[in-house]
Amino acid sequence: MKLDSVDLHIHTCFSDGTCSVGEVVDTSRAKGLGTFAITDHYSEFSDLPPRMPKEQFVSYLSALDHAGVIKGVEVDVLTDGVSITAQSTKLCDLVLGGLHMLQGIIFWSDYRPILNPASFVENVRV
Ligand SMILES: [Zn+2]
Repeated sequence: MKLDSVDLHIHTCFSDGTCSVGEVVDTSRAKGLGTFAITDHYSEFSDLPPRMPKEQFVSYLSALDHAGVIKGVEVDVLTDGVSITAQSTKLCDLVLGGLHMLQGIIFWSDYRPILNPASFVENVRV
C-alpha cells in the first residue's frame, strides 16, 4: 500500500499561523500533499494566545468544512484532561494534544519561558 504525502498538523492565522485557510489549502495542494488537516490551537478554558478565541470556533470549523479539509484542533494536555469538551470533539475530525509538560518539567506554558528542546529532552528521565 502506498501512502499519500500527509501533514496532520498545520496552523493558520486562526491561531499562530501566518496564512489563511485558503492559502494553506492552495499551498498544500501545490506541494502535492494528498492528505492534510488544519489543526489550530484551541482551548475552551483559555483564550490566551496562541489559541483562537472561543467565539471563532464555529466559524473556524465552517471555514475548514468549506475548504474540504480534515477539521482538527490542537488542544492543551492538562494535568486532569484536555482543554476541549467531549461534545466539541464530536464537531472535529481530529484532535491533537499538545504536550507542554512531562514529569513536572515545563516545556511550554503561557507564563514561563520556552525551554530549548534539547534541554527538555535531556532532563526527562525515561
Ligand atoms: Zn501545533
